[in-house]
Amino acid sequence: MQKQFDLSGKTALVTGCNTGLGQAMAVALAQAGCDVVGVNRSEPTETTKHVAATGRTFFDVRADLSDKTAIPKAFEEALAATGHLDILVNNAGIIRREDAVEFSEEDWDAVMNLNIRSLFFLSQLVAKQFIKQGWGGKIINIASMLSYQGGVRVPSYTASKSAVLGLTKALANEWAKHNINVNAIAPGYMETNNTQALRADVDRNKAILERIPAERWGTPEDIAGPCVFLASEASAYVHGFTLAVDGGWLAR
Ligand code: NAP
Repeated sequence: MQKQFDLSGKTALVTGCNTGLGQAMAVALAQAGCDVVGVNRSEPTETTKHVAATGRTFFDVRADLSDKTAIPKAFEEALAATGHLDILVNNAGIIRREDAVEFSEEDWDAVMNLNIRSLFFLSQLVAKQFIKQGWGGKIINIASMLSYQGGVRVPSYTASKSAVLGLTKALANEWAKHNINVNAIAPGYMETNNTQALRADVDRNKAILERIPAERWGTPEDIAGPCVFLASEASAYVHGFTLAVDGGWLAR
């Protein structure tokens, strides 16, 4: 059974892995035996160190993925560094908060460009490469509770993450026959920079905690195991599914 989770000899591309959930997944994939290419805007200093500590190699590619011309460039750089790709984790994502009646076009475009547009076009390039290589591959998209729920004051985030859930199914339908598994992870409320403001708001923090059956915020490490599972042979027959890692939030 352990062999099914072994990622030795594989290469994973993880977007937005200089911190938070992306960092935890990059390190977990390395611990499972994988070399990792990180695509980040900022220098992934900590992640480079943590991956090196596992004995695996970390390749540092810099790109602003919300810029459409940067996506093919980052992909080519990643491929040139590693020679092949086996796993893509579409993690980079942002959120903008404002009342829907005041929500600006800029906040709409910024979120949609990164959270769904870049996810689609990077997946397209990687899937072409998987098909060319001929041995399949794994795509793991990062969704959200707002792939299922409406949220408040985050219209572009909800739109983008609902699209992640739908697109995960659409791409699985086309690519499963190539032995490519497209799945998603929907994290619940996790302790990262992304949720700093929510956690600092005493009332919101209390309300959130009262609604989580596990009675705690998730940690980035909570999605390490699910990520390795979806990146491994153990999930060979899992296609188009979004796995909630939410302390029971959706069960409530
Ligand atoms: P985070 O701590 O804010 O990290 C976001 C990552 O995305 C960073 O590495 C950031 O790099 C990168 N990024 C942002 N804009 C980018 C761009 N234009 N180009 C390339 N990289 C960019 O967020 P997180 O909480 O770990 O979230 C990771 C993913 O999980 C996101 O998709 C988020 O929506 C999703 N999620 C998070 C939660 C949660 O509770 N935390 C819940 C559900 C879903 P820079 O630092 O260089 O900008």
